[in-house]
Amino acid sequence: MDKEKLMKEIDSSVKACSKCRLCKTATNAVPGEGNINSKVIFIGEAPGYYEDVSGRPFVGRAGKLLDASLKEIGYLRDDIWIGNIIKHRPPDNREPLPDEISACSPFLELQIKIISPVVIVTLGRYSMNHFYPDGKISRDHGNLIKAGNYYIYPVYHPAAALRSTSVLEEFKKDFARIPEMLTNAEELIKGGELGSNIGITQEDVDGQLGLGL
Ligand code: URA
Repeated sequence: MDKEKLMKEIDSSVKACSKCRLCKTATNAVPGEGNINSKVIFIGEAPGYYEDVSGRPFVGRAGKLLDASLKEIGYLRDDIWIGNIIKHRPPDNREPLPDEISACSPFLELQIKIISPVVIVTLGRYSMNHFYPDGKISRDHGNLIKAGNYYIYPVYHPAAALRSTSVLEEFKKDFARIPEMLTNAEELIKGGELGSNIGITQEDVDGQLGLGL
């Protein structure tokens, strides 16, 4: 499969999407960006002000902390892929509504299937609960969790880390263990545990985006 082509199709569909009210108030869609062959991907909640203006994920203050934390573990931003569950900014950064989530989350599902990462680092409670509804961020952060077909690694949201020194410490500790979690997940996959490498075809993507109709 031509991953790049499929991801571009999704980007275009996200930009053209009017399935929920958020496209009316947002300036730009934020489909996600980065290395589509990355073994580790990072998923946040929804674009904020700066992301809405630029059309790029995590470019505000939380994004700067994310970039610095990636550097600490020897990753460059270009090495990994970053996206959000919701692709258009909710007004005043309010929590996304259930119908907005059901309209938007199929895009992320397709993106994940195309990238086929080994570990999904969920940034914050909201992203963790999307994959693992029973999760509690204070209990589950810093643990590799098998959630359905995926290995997720929940960490606190960088914006929460900016608001509290104790959360920042936990965030940094958890971040430092990302390479180790990747190795652990790879071992589990090698050992026959179901991983996130479930694959997808061009027909699946076209069908789901409605391009094949
Ligand atoms: N917070 C998020 O959850 N996502 C972004 O892209 C920026 C801030």
